[in-house]
Amino acid sequence: MDKIEHIGIAVKDLETSNALFTKLFGVVHYKIEEVVNEGVKTSFFKAGPNKIELLEATNSESPIAKFIEKKGEGIHHIAFAVTDIISEIARLKSEGFVILNEIPKKGADNKLVAFVHPKSSNGVLIELCQEIGN
Ligand code: ZN
Repeated sequence: MDKIEHIGIAVKDLETSNALFTKLFGVVHYKIEEVVNEGVKTSFFKAGPNKIELLEATNSESPIAKFIEKKGEGIHHIAFAVTDIISEIARLKSEGFVILNEIPKKGADNKLVAFVHPKSSNGVLIELCQEIGN
């Protein structure tokens, strides 16, 4: 695994949180993107070299809706950049981690993504992401 690519934060209302995080970081989000198959609307901020993704549910079946129902708003996942997501998935599987989607899917911000189930990683949802085009 490479550097932390971004941190994902689950929010109830993207517009309200965009305003809040704009104040916090001193910069405006650079992108809003809906990932229809995940039931989420995301916005991205760059705070210095760091990238933060805010995630709002677009329907009640969305994983973000379920997360907020259970735990409330807050840090949802940590994403790591990988150069070869297929081999990283295979490596983690062989180490006994539960991979939520063994075939990587298209995520926000031009990435192929796969998730490690938090039950196999001390309660932390881990996202692997590979830049498409790499
Ligand atoms: Zn993410």
